[in-house]
Amino acid sequence: MATLIDGKAVSAAVKERVRQTIEANGYNPCLAVIIVGDDPASRVYVNNKKKACEVSGIHSVEYALPQDATQHELLSLIDQLNADADVNGILCQLPLPPQIDEIAVIARIAPLKDVDCFNSLNVGRLWTGDKTFEPCTPAGMIELLDAYGIDPTGKHCVIVGRSNIVGKPMAALMLERDATVTVCHSKTKDLAAITQQADILVASVGKKHFFSADMIKAGAVILDVGITRGEDNKLYGDVDFDAVKDKVSYITPVPGGCGPMTIAVLMKNTLRAYCLQMGKR
Ligand code: NAP
Repeated sequence: MATLIDGKAVSAAVKERVRQTIEANGYNPCLAVIIVGDDPASRVYVNNKKKACEVSGIHSVEYALPQDATQHELLSLIDQLNADADVNGILCQLPLPPQIDEIAVIARIAPLKDVDCFNSLNVGRLWTGDKTFEPCTPAGMIELLDAYGIDPTGKHCVIVGRSNIVGKPMAALMLERDATVTVCHSKTKDLAAITQQADILVASVGKKHFFSADMIKAGAVILDVGITRGEDNKLYGDVDFDAVKDKVSYITPVPGGCGPMTIAVLMKNTLRAYCLQMGKR
């Protein structure tokens, strides 16, 4: 049986480190969380982020706009928060209602307050090695590798999925860690032939049990980011956990693997934003 990578424990440790740093130095970081509309999943995510702030010693302020809020209203709120010296991080929960242009919203957040690391300047800095923040979900996976002493150097990391929030930034972080990186997507030919070569497989497709045992190399490390709710209302990963658990060396469970790490890195980024804005290193 593979070693289970315990994202809950690593996430708790990251948040505790953030809390201790804040307490030891008398810091006072603040995260502004914007939610537009009443999507139940967004409400759960926002509540979880606020709870994580409490645990980590970060002050959080919620701004809830109605479902029919205009782009102008949202951009004005972001301008106000950008100008507010007491707000260190700004997070706008996605997705946004259709009348609002997500790209414009992300672009409006001041780069030093962009704790999700979504805006173009921060993404560019990530790729040039001059990082302001690390993107939360991919950096969470790197935290997991570090916590379990898994060094990506020289390993073949195959990432399946090329979204802006998972696949692409994960490629940047794995290159930075000296892995050899292949990024696959829906147009990739003979996907199994590539995933079978993966020393580290990052599964971010979003389809329940998409990866069967025959697609996976013996001894591989599996980082399963996918979360899909099954008809039985349970959460499933992209990898058929039971089928591969005896074949691989390390695997993240779903839930409780990569999922909890995203918020932990968000806490780290908010502390970093505070330190950068206050001139503390
Ligand atoms: P996304 O934007 O829908 O991207 C899915 C990717 O999978 C796309 O690049 C797509 O390729 C690729 N894909 C789809 N079908 C494929 C196939 N048959 N073969 C190979 N590639 C295929 O999703 P996302 O936002 O990256 O999220 C992926 C999963 O991770 C979802 O389950 C999401 O819920 C989960 N997630 C979890 C966390 C967390 O745990 N904190 C955070 C973010 C996302 P194309 O680009 O060619 O369409």
